[in-house]
Amino acid sequence: RKIAVAVDGPAGAGKSSISKLVAQRLGYLYIDTGAMYRAITWAALHAGVDVKDEIKVTALLPSIDLRLEPTKDSFRVYVNNREITADIRSQAVTGHVSQVASYKSVREFLVEKQRQMARCGGVILDGRDIGSVVLPDAELKIYLTASVDARAHRRWLEVKDIEEVSLEDIKRSVKERDLMDTTRKESPLICVPEAVVVDSSNMSFDNTVEHIMKLIID
Ligand code: C5P
Repeated sequence: RKIAVAVDGPAGAGKSSISKLVAQRLGYLYIDTGAMYRAITWAALHAGVDVKDEIKVTALLPSIDLRLEPTKDSFRVYVNNREITADIRSQAVTGHVSQVASYKSVREFLVEKQRQMARCGGVILDGRDIGSVVLPDAELKIYLTASVDARAHRRWLEVKDIEEVSLEDIKRSVKERDLMDTTRKESPLICVPEAVVVDSSNMSFDNTVEHIMKLIID
């Protein structure tokens, strides 16, 4: 029987790459909720809206038709039928997403969508508030974490060939996002008591994938 799996944790812990692969291997639907917050941030920046202005960002929401389209091994992101899969990973979006994700209106808009997408079962959702808010009844909750150094280093390896950015800058941005995600008023990142904690600081990618697959199958 396929279940609903919640994967929460801080930025750069490997939640999305690991969840994506686990979902593919087990035939589950993978939903990257961070990509959804990024898509809203992209839409606001693209529309020239000041992302620090909660009222203006809120007013934009009804005009955003957001779609995640699963592919064989990943997914594509569309806003109003324009594909923005790569655009949502830019430093501009990354630098503003935690601000946009702190707005209650944005969270309500996306949580509703996430619950609808998860209705069919056999899903892995990754994010910050999946076990606490989006799917409080998920059969399995995983808190995937790693040290700041390990997370910054991994993110740097991912982006260093795409953008000119130093490891120090990435470390600073990881810490900033940690602080915003854990201290915000709306659905802060927390490790719920029933979650299985997986610290991947000293685990290889493959080991982490194996470990999480076991948790789901057992
Ligand atoms: O997972 P990712 O790093 O792509 O998420 C981008 C940002 O979106 C996070 O730093 C966080 O501020 C926000 N987010 C959130 N709740 C989620 C998923 C992401 O607030 N469920």
